This record gives sequence, C-alpha cells and structure tokens, in this order.
Amino acid sequence: MARVAEACLAISLGLALGLGLEPAEAKEQPRELEASLVVDLDDDDADGREDGLQDRVGDAVDCATWDVAKLPSEMSLEGVTPAGAVRVLADGVPIAAGQRVPPGAARLQVQALRPGPFTVELGSVRIRGSALRLLALDGNGRSVSFASSHASMQRTIPDRVVAPDAVTRDPDALRFVVAGVAADLPAALAVRARSETGVQLSALDALRLVDTTCPVDAGAGVVCKTTMPVRVVGDEADRVHPLVVDRSVTGELGGGILIDLGGGRRQQIRVGGPRETRFGVMRRYRATLRTRLLRIGARGAAPLGGTDAKALKLMRGQVALANALWGQCGISFGPPADADIALVDPPPPWLVSVGCELGLPASGGQVRLVVDGRPVTVAVEAGWSPARAAREIATSLEKRRYRVGISTNARIAPGAMPTVDLQVWRGPGRAAEVKGPDAGSVSTDRTLGVCVGTADLSVGLRHFLDVDSMAGTFDERTLLKWVDDRDPSTIDLMVISSFVRGGRIGESFIGTDRSSVRNAVVLDRSGIRVARASYALAHEVGHVMLDVPGHPDDYGRDTPTLLMDSDGADASVFGPRRLRVEDCERAMQNSGPGSPVPLLREWGWGRLGKP
Ligand SMILES: [Zn+2]
Repeated sequence: MARVAEACLAISLGLALGLGLEPAEAKEQPRELEASLVVDLDDDDADGREDGLQDRVGDAVDCATWDVAKLPSEMSLEGVTPAGAVRVLADGVPIAAGQRVPPGAARLQVQALRPGPFTVELGSVRIRGSALRLLALDGNGRSVSFASSHASMQRTIPDRVVAPDAVTRDPDALRFVVAGVAADLPAALAVRARSETGVQLSALDALRLVDTTCPVDAGAGVVCKTTMPVRVVGDEADRVHPLVVDRSVTGELGGGILIDLGGGRRQQIRVGGPRETRFGVMRRYRATLRTRLLRIGARGAAPLGGTDAKALKLMRGQVALANALWGQCGISFGPPADADIALVDPPPPWLVSVGCELGLPASGGQVRLVVDGRPVTVAVEAGWSPARAAREIATSLEKRRYRVGISTNARIAPGAMPTVDLQVWRGPGRAAEVKGPDAGSVSTDRTLGVCVGTADLSVGLRHFLDVDSMAGTFDERTLLKWVDDRDPSTIDLMVISSFVRGGRIGESFIGTDRSSVRNAVVLDRSGIRVARASYALAHEVGHVMLDVPGHPDDYGRDTPTLLMDSDGADASVFGPRRLRVEDCERAMQNSGPGSPVPLLREWGWGRLGKP
C-alpha cells in the first residue's frame, strides 16, 4: 500500500503540483520535483549514529518524501549531481546508481549529505534542490556532533560575549553555524528546548545569524553564518538574566534542542551533562531519592505545607529544583511526578543505644528496660565493650520473641568506643515500645550508659554538632533508622518540621563515615522554605554524592556561587547554584556506577522524534 509518511517533512513543490492528477495520467508526465533540505546528521532514532550514515532509516528522518504510487513507474537512479550530495531511499533503504526503485516500494525519499545545490535523475523524474548544513561549535570552536555528542547544561555564570565567533572557552554553550549557498542562508533560526517527552520547555524564536568563517568540516563551496553561543540552563533564574536572556533556553537532561532553519529544515541535539571530564562524557545518570515526610506525632500533621497534598507537591517541586541544579553534572533524580515520596508517622520509642554517645566500657551492673510494658533486665560485666553488652541485650530480647537489628555507629570524636544501636521489632514493620524503668536509670553501670527514648518532633529534632556528626544524635538515629530502607544504593531524605535550635536547615550522613546511617539527608521546613536561596536539598545531597563532609570554602577561596559553598544564600543567578567539572568528577568517582556503593546509574536517552 502506498502512502506518504507523515512523520517525514516533505518540502516538495512537485508533490503539491502532482496531487491533483489521476495516477494514470500522472505516470505519463515527466516530473520536475523540488526539495529544500538540511544535511541529516542528527540522530532521530537515538541509536548513536548519524541518520544520514545509516544503512536503513526509519520514516522520521529529515528528508523529502514522495508517495511512489503518485510517481511514474519504472524509475531508476541515473545519477546524483554533485556525486554524494544526497542519497535516494526507497522505504528507508538507499538505492545505488543504476538501481531501479523497487516496484513494491511505498515511499521515495531524498536525504541530504552535503550542503549546496543538487540534482537527482530518476529517468522521467528529476529532483532538484539545495541543502543547508547545520553545525554546532563549542567555546573553543570545535565541532560537536548532533548524534554522538550533546549540548551540555550550563555550569558557568552569565557572561558577556562580544563577537559570536570569539573563542570563549565556555565549556557548555554551543553556537550554531549554517553552511550553504549564499542565497539559501536564512537571516535567523529558531532554537526550541524540549523535554524527553517532546514538550516544548522554552524557545528562542528568531536567533539572528551573522556572517562567519566556515569551519573546516562545513563542506566545499559554501558560505556560513553563525548564532551567538546558546546556553541551555536548568531554570528560569538562569535564563532571564539580562546578559544572556537573548541566547538562553531552559532545557532538561535527556531532552533535546531543536534547531529550526525554516521550511521544515530541522536538526536536533540532545541535552546531557559535561562533555569533557576525567571520566569521559557524562551524559545522564540517575540517582534514587526516597523521601519520607515525618508527621508531627502519630497520624499528626504533615511537617510542612499544612496539608498532605501540599506537602507532597512542595517536595515534588524540590526534586525538580535538585534536577535543575544537578543537571549540570548530568545527574537527575528522575521525573518529579515519579519520585518516591510518602508521609509517615514517627516511630514509637524503639531504639536502644548501648554506650549512649561516649561508648565507655562497662564496670559491671544491670540494664533495665521495659519492652511493651514488660521488664527486661540484663546483667553486664566489668570490661565489656558496648558491642558485647549489646549482644547480651539482643539475645535476651530475642528469647522473648522480639526481632532485634544491631547496628554499630561510628565512634564520635570524644568517644572511647563505637556505640551500638538495637532496633527492637515486634514483627515486620512493627516497632516495639521500649522505655526505661519507672524509677532509677536504665543502666546501673557507672560507665556504660544505655539510652532509650524518642525524638519528640513537637519540640524539634536535636541535630548533630561537629563532635558527633559521624554518628548523628540519638534522636536523629531513632528517626533515620526508622525511615531508612537499608538499601545503600538509594539516598534517604527525611523531612521534619524543625531542628531544635535555629540556624540548621539540613544535614547529611555520608558513606565514608562508617556509620550505620549513611547516604541520608535530613531537611527541616525552613530548609524547604529557603530553597530558592540556598538550595538546601541539592546541597545536602551533594555531600552524600560527593562523599565529602566539608565545603570548598572551608579551606580554599570563598566562592559563594558554588552549590557546595558552606554559607551561600542568594536567590539570584549568582547564588550557590554552580557545580564545577571537578564536582561532577568527584560524584562519578564516589557514587558513579564503578564506585564501591553506586548511587548513580547510567540512564540512557529514549527516542525523541521531531514534532
Ligand atoms: Zn554543607
């Protein structure tokens, strides 16, 4: 069955003229067809190869298309002038010179391979036209492939560009060069940023083209025009700055930048992370963020937003903001709509910390717990470490049919030995309620402390200080061990209403701490509220992915534009938003697919056809 492939853009005057003719009459007429093309070196089928170099192409490539049934029968390819300027395809397969168009073919296509005028002789049919070539050049003037490379999300602050073809050394922005015969070159082109699902995110409708020297790979006998370097930025704050507003589009990792030369001539380049790092190209990686919003008390209010629905919506907005910033490194937390976000009740008092915070050895005594209302007493002997005492307590609880999770905390700076936490379960997902005795302390031992209790979220969460940052406070562990999924490849985000003292809005527990709580982030309501000024989520998640507790300004120069700066708070485009290539490399080294505990997995691009 013959048909015109709708997905393929046909600019064919001949087709338009021929449409009114009856097939029988049409077949007797010699035809002159016209086509206005773009050299097809992008990658519409997302197979990593230029469409114009594939042995077989789908029907969505950039070419002129005709319905074979409406053309004379018995066509064979007599020649292309100049040789190699275009190729002729029958149902997506190239035809060699001298070969006839297969009788059963439905569509005939011409795909341009070089810029300039061309003629195709097909017996009684002649196709004439010309093609434009589109190139993307980086800040060093090097050509960036539309198929095997990509446009990278902008990492640098807005800058002034004096001449469009100046060497800027900008690692990300690309300028687009159009090559062709002078009469054919447009005065402007359009740049449209699209999401991976094809939704237009932003556009520059008429980006002016000015004369420039042709790059060496532009082709022979052509002249060239260029745009200014185009920045693909993560959000509106970066897009609308006056220095760059006329050459910025808001893009998305995995999406595309569609360059429209007019007349249906379009090419598309995908959007990814840095093109050059110590680890090679960082195209797109995905991290899993598992968010738990702790209600204030059992069945209580959401910790932010007022209602559950608003709290969930606010958190999806946070994921979008983190995506916008981490896109600079080619890192995404996935579509906000798919994010794993849930409201949960805080746990009952269920955690027992043996050694409390200092982890001193025992001198001999008793540990007296009340579990689900029943007393449990365990004797500890002089010289026992907190770990040894914890094992005794666990054994004694297990004899009473409780399930006990044992986790060792990192030794804190002033501590003697690591403390050990016992998580006491009645059954799967059901915590036991653990208290101290009605009178006297939990431990009668002079040196070995044992703590039980709850983090009372109505008064705020006691956060860690420098001395106990590696283990977290007992309150924090009570909550974090409750929401933790024990999957080291995910980042757990716990959102609470507030920390006890002002000032702290977020904190992170990183992998190298040898702590039982790792790859976790705690944010409070104010950390969400000031999101646009200090990017608390993106910053804290940065500590986890970079696996570094410190900040670049702790030792080096204060650079308040860096996301990982310790004290940056600025809602403008000069706020703490930027990631350096060394930050991206550090994320790859410590959390990439090849790291000991990978938090990032490679996330390939899906197919993104043209609209
Ligand atoms: Zn920090």
